[in-house]
Amino acid sequence: MSSDLPPLREGRPGCGLLLIVSAPSGAGKTTLVERLVEQIPHLRMSRSYTSRSARDGETDGVDYNFVTRDRFEAMIAAGDFLEWAEVFGNLYGTCATDTERMLAGGDDVVLVIDVQGARQVRRRSRPAATIFVMPPSYEVLEQRLRGRSKDSEAAIQRRLQVAREEIASFAEYDFIVVNDGLSASVDRLRSIVLAERARLARMRTTAETISRTFS
Ligand code: 5GP
Repeated sequence: MSSDLPPLREGRPGCGLLLIVSAPSGAGKTTLVERLVEQIPHLRMSRSYTSRSARDGETDGVDYNFVTRDRFEAMIAAGDFLEWAEVFGNLYGTCATDTERMLAGGDDVVLVIDVQGARQVRRRSRPAATIFVMPPSYEVLEQRLRGRSKDSEAAIQRRLQVAREEIASFAEYDFIVVNDGLSASVDRLRSIVLAERARLARMRTTAETISRTFS
């Protein structure tokens, strides 16, 4: 085989792949996706804008871009968001130009967003692979929410109620990952990303280049 072939850019023909991960609060999606992007080169997690204030340990420009509600509303009016939603009384959104810039650079981008945001991306007919992360059961989610947070009982009940509503949306997604353990679930997500990168539509240019060496 010729050694002067260009390096393989598997599944990255110029414009990256958009992935969406949704899950009820407490299902562990952010931790899973943080691990995933550490393991897969050229995969980046989008940084959302939010009107909520930073929690202890969160940093502006790292965990989120924290902005005032007024600024967020001005961004909505200016059409800056690929999608946005109100979740637990706060506004969250994905900046369209940030996302398109990363994709145009050839990186694949994961949006960790709620089910309303995922619906907006679908409605825009923006091609995306969508993944729904589920806890193994309601009881497990309840234990996780109680174990991890200093939230009041009322706040926990509210998250559980929203989780009941969100779980019902699983059939809108292309893939389901049951989070029954961190490393097994990261492996499942990794398999999905690698399989999406191997699709004919994304590999066609590479395959054609290889094919030409046979003629
Ligand atoms: P938290 O405040 O716990 O970080 O996030 C609350 C919820 O907002 C989570 O379900 C999270 O996925 C969702 N979320 C975070 N960023 C975005 C975003 O940019 N768009 C949408 N639609 N939801 C988001």
